[in-house]
Amino acid sequence: MERHEHDLVIIGAGPGGYVAAIRASQLGMNVACVELEPRLGGTCLRVGCIPSKALLESSLLYYQARNSFGEHGIQVGEVGLDLAAMMRRKDEVVSQLTSGVEGLFKKNCVTRYLGRGRLDGPDRVIVEVGEGVVELLAPRIIIATGSRSADLRGVELDGDLIGTSTEALCYPEVPGHLVVIGAGVIGMELGSVWLRLGSRVTVLEYLDRILPGVDSEVAREAHRVFKKQGFGFHLGARVTSARVEGRGAKLSCVVEREGGEEVQADRVLLVVGRAPYIEGLNLESVGVATDERGRIRVDERCSTAAPGIYAIGDVIAGPMLAHRAEDEGVACAEHMASGYGHVDYGVMPAVVYTEPEIGAVGKTEDELIAAGMKAGADYRKGVFLFRANGRARAMGHIEGRVKILADAGSDRVLGVHIIGPYAGELIAEAAMAMQSGASSEDIARTCHAHPTLSEAVKEAALAVDGRAIHA
Ligand code: NAD
Repeated sequence: MERHEHDLVIIGAGPGGYVAAIRASQLGMNVACVELEPRLGGTCLRVGCIPSKALLESSLLYYQARNSFGEHGIQVGEVGLDLAAMMRRKDEVVSQLTSGVEGLFKKNCVTRYLGRGRLDGPDRVIVEVGEGVVELLAPRIIIATGSRSADLRGVELDGDLIGTSTEALCYPEVPGHLVVIGAGVIGMELGSVWLRLGSRVTVLEYLDRILPGVDSEVAREAHRVFKKQGFGFHLGARVTSARVEGRGAKLSCVVEREGGEEVQADRVLLVVGRAPYIEGLNLESVGVATDERGRIRVDERCSTAAPGIYAIGDVIAGPMLAHRAEDEGVACAEHMASGYGHVDYGVMPAVVYTEPEIGAVGKTEDELIAAGMKAGADYRKGVFLFRANGRARAMGHIEGRVKILADAGSDRVLGVHIIGPYAGELIAEAAMAMQSGASSEDIARTCHAHPTLSEAVKEAALAVDGRAIHA
């Protein structure tokens, strides 16, 4: 059997694994990364964040060309859709980025093994490469295998008409009626793509609200805007089954929900969360423990119960965000090299790439209230609407708001929630402010260029103290 020795073996080349590999290599380690897919970058680059953002961008342009160019005095002829070309562009974006990671591995001398890795002792990983097997020895191992779409009992995935986000990134035609099960982040993002391209989209959501985890004031505003865009919502709808019916060219999907009527659809998108991807890793053999949801248990240094074995990203508990995995990868590598490495989970931005976008960092108002804090007495809130912002008016994107939550005593920023144009970019300022321990007064006294969307952040900070200028 072929055998190689390394300082560190990483299983999985998603944003957690590949970033950890590069950082560890920068720190002088001889690093190997095992990945079963031919293309590097994991779910995020191949079938997640990147292809969905490419389609969100293309579908928005299509929608705007059809619906809002006229407002700007731009006359276009009939706007047509070449879905195949849109898909090719998305695939091209994915290829450019996955090859980019390959290039980064070469530049940083990370050895890549193509195959399925499994643990075989505290310092050994077996890689199945085609028919053969390679043995990798290393005193340290990082598990960064990510997550897969969660199943729902009763929903019969056929990998085509009833599928997950992976299928929804490459439907061959625009579905006449798309039923989305789950009004979470993926449901709203991919639902937006197909709505803009012409599908009727019905969202069935178990809870009485959309976007769980998002500040409820922001989620309510998103719900209102999405309904205006044409989304159909059934809240409090627990889906119990979905199946394909009919024969030959007359196939259709039937979705059933508790206590409600059946819904007929051309395609069904199941997006009810993601589950840690631990199958086949042989965790038990080395004493790596998992929790009740199958997530690998780690301490604050991402160390598992097995000495020398670490786990990062979606495979452990915490928000399933690519940038969290990246930060954990860096911290893990730095900790191995120096004894120090840190991730600040309290200042971790999250973005929903709908129109309008949603960006958030820190505590939601719901969390402050749940912690027993009272508005006015314990925290202060400043809200500024984009409709009063000059740049937003000029752009014609006036929906949304910036909300800043600050401690009533110290004025330290506790959370910032933005729904509006480029919220995903604007939130970076708020994250930087929170990371530096800024007060709302610090943001309010920072000069913001005019006319920019970022002035809405400054105005919301002024509003915390009741002195917004343009409110
Ligand atoms: P989610 O947890 O965000 O939402 C799933 C939704 O499905 C929930 O609202 C839940 O109540 C609902 N649901 C569950 N069972 C149901 C049933 N039987 N019938 C109807 N509704 C049901 O999950 P997701 O959207 O699949 O996303 C998975 C993970 O990936 C999340 O952690 C998300 O944050 C992450 N992600 C993030 C981004 C981003 O940051 N932009 C993008 C994609 C995914």
